[in-house]
Amino acid sequence: MATFGNLSARLTDTLKNLRSKGKLSASDVDSTVREIRRALLEADVALDVVKEFTAKVRERALGDEVNQALNPAQQVVQIVNEELVAILGGEQRRLQFAKNPPTVIMLAGLQGAGKTTLAGKLAKWLRDQGHTPLLVACDLQRPNAVTQLGVVAEQAGAEIFAPEPGNGVGDPVQVAKRGVAEARSKHYDFVIIDTAGRLGVDAELMRQASDIRKATDPDEVLFVIDAMIGQDAVATAQAFQEGVDFTGVVLTKLDGDARGGAALSIRSVTGRPILFASTGEGLKDFEPFHPDRMASRILD
Ligand code: GDP
Repeated sequence: MATFGNLSARLTDTLKNLRSKGKLSASDVDSTVREIRRALLEADVALDVVKEFTAKVRERALGDEVNQALNPAQQVVQIVNEELVAILGGEQRRLQFAKNPPTVIMLAGLQGAGKTTLAGKLAKWLRDQGHTPLLVACDLQRPNAVTQLGVVAEQAGAEIFAPEPGNGVGDPVQVAKRGVAEARSKHYDFVIIDTAGRLGVDAELMRQASDIRKATDPDEVLFVIDAMIGQDAVATAQAFQEGVDFTGVVLTKLDGDARGGAALSIRSVTGRPILFASTGEGLKDFEPFHPDRMASRILD
């Protein structure tokens, strides 16, 4: 995965330099922490997150667990790894299922974040586990969105619920409600609601997303974010958190080669867990998110 290529290389180099030392002095620790700080900032990780992370690493690295370790440098690597796991959310958080199906999953995010593609990926992933997802097309803004959802649904072998073509634009809130009712009456066990995105956050988009949330009472509201959007990630995530109060995050485009700091900031900034990671355009390029595996990839 190239996302963390640069960050990963920087962190690995910094930690490698430490290994040549036996006992670590306070100044060894400080210069290592400074390097880590710089690497994280250059990767566009949010400043507050960087501060908290480096403060924790520094405090632990200067403490007894390193001082008394047989291999102090190795212990610092271990600490950085553990703290990375912590900022990525600690334990894996699984998708919540409804007690009485269908489980309703609503997707929200900016245009181009990868929502429609994700709808297909989720549908395929669920189908592979024997579930019966219904995709509901509520992105009635973008001319091609319903067709695109139809294409990914077909690839995933899933059904789609959409307004009849030629019926005008339609009301996304009504479509969402009818979609859930359809799933209930026809015994689909999952509903995935694709919603409209805008290029930037705007009030009308938020209101529509919030209305769809109220009308369908989803079990999960997944905020889909392009991991490559850099510093804008924090403001965008906060706006969506206020606007729709999402329950979890999906990081997309982790296969890109940009800085990827969003991936490291988003959990701390929103307090919401990352549930899935998307790593390419194909429906198979998708996996549940494991904080420990991601940390290991970064420190590879
Ligand atoms: P939406 O506007 O949020 O519904 O976004 P789309 O699902 O239409 O995705 C926008 C573009 O990003 C499309 O060209 C997708 O093929 C592409 N895309 C989506 N997810 C990924 C991913 O994980 N990696 C890469 N490289 N491209 C992706």
